[in-house]
Amino acid sequence: MRQSYLPFSPPLIGEEEIAEVVDALRSGWISSGPRTRQFEIDFGQLCEGRQALGLNSCTAGLHLALLGLGVGAGDEVITTPITFAATVNMIEMVGARPVLVDVEPDTLNIDPRRIEGAITSKTRAIMPVHFAGHPAEMDPINEIASERGLRVIEDAAHALPAKYKGRTIGAGPNPTAFSFYATKNITTGEGGMLVGDDQLVTEARITCLHGMSREAWNRYGKGGSWRYDIVRPGLKYNMFDIQAAIGMCQLKKLAQFQERRQAIVRAYFDALSDEPGVKLPAHRDHVEHAWHLFVIRVQEEFVGGGRDQFLEELTKRNIGTSVHFIPIHMHSYYQNKYRYRHGDFPIAEQNFAQMLSLPLNPAMTDTDVEDVVDAVKQVLRNLKPARRAA
Ligand SMILES: *Cc1c(COP(=O)(O)O)cnc(C)c1O
Repeated sequence: MRQSYLPFSPPLIGEEEIAEVVDALRSGWISSGPRTRQFEIDFGQLCEGRQALGLNSCTAGLHLALLGLGVGAGDEVITTPITFAATVNMIEMVGARPVLVDVEPDTLNIDPRRIEGAITSKTRAIMPVHFAGHPAEMDPINEIASERGLRVIEDAAHALPAKYKGRTIGAGPNPTAFSFYATKNITTGEGGMLVGDDQLVTEARITCLHGMSREAWNRYGKGGSWRYDIVRPGLKYNMFDIQAAIGMCQLKKLAQFQERRQAIVRAYFDALSDEPGVKLPAHRDHVEHAWHLFVIRVQEEFVGGGRDQFLEELTKRNIGTSVHFIPIHMHSYYQNKYRYRHGDFPIAEQNFAQMLSLPLNPAMTDTDVEDVVDAVKQVLRNLKPARRAA
């Protein structure tokens, strides 16, 4: 058995990041400034030249996108129950109502076939989440949106770098928010990026910094003016240069990180494909998967105690795992406010009961990967289902 605990998703920070942070600290400019701008430019290039805005979180990006599209009180936004709370919380925070539709059974992404039935006269937008890094079916989603006059905001917290039908997520027509939280595919500790068209990003840049008419960092630089105007009330969501110093280095390593993620995914598939006790993640031919999460589904009929027991046994064997996500309608606030009942989103609920995320990150060594595989196989052998009464 593995001797030391394998953390689920530790950050992978190298000497490059440390040196760049030190340079930023010594530079005399630690708030939003040249490093933030450079990181935005580099990130925008990755998204085929779209405008990018560095923020202190992906949550901020989702909030600014909703505000930028004018979504507010009385509006409805269609989204998925299989996401982190940030997605729906921001819909609530602008005064709109999140309308959940159930997910596709294989990818666990929002099911485009169910969207039409959820549209009302109040619907303003659709917010797909590229769950685990597998892009949602953007063609039908965009098609429904354009037919019905709706906007689309993409929650791409998991989807760096992913492609849908050859196009990079973030390079499409919709405002798209990325996360650099500590566990995400690249990290700045906390941080995010909003990518979109020039107008939306220009407006979001103003809103993200108090509604000030010019960038604050110009204010204190030579040639900057002390004058500023508040054109509307804003927030304080800007990324700063210490974060961006980490992000610039992480972005340079993205391709290398992804190669490692893919190699680990191949190892998991090779080792676990024939195990009936676990269903491995879906991967459609027309997408490039960001492999943020490796979500397996524990098959109760083959595994005694199901997912919960399985997870506990892996923890005992020093393998860190997690569950993504508790469906939104099962959280007390949403359950109480919208009177959701058990069975409202049966596919989300059935899969939630089975879901477990195995460790998948570029810090893992080959031995770590073997340890996970060995532990999973051992647990599958040990947890035989109770024999059914004849
Ligand atoms: C992590 C995450 C977010 C929020 O990202 P932050 O940068 O922490 O705000 C949003 N949506 C999903 C699906 C996430 O996993």
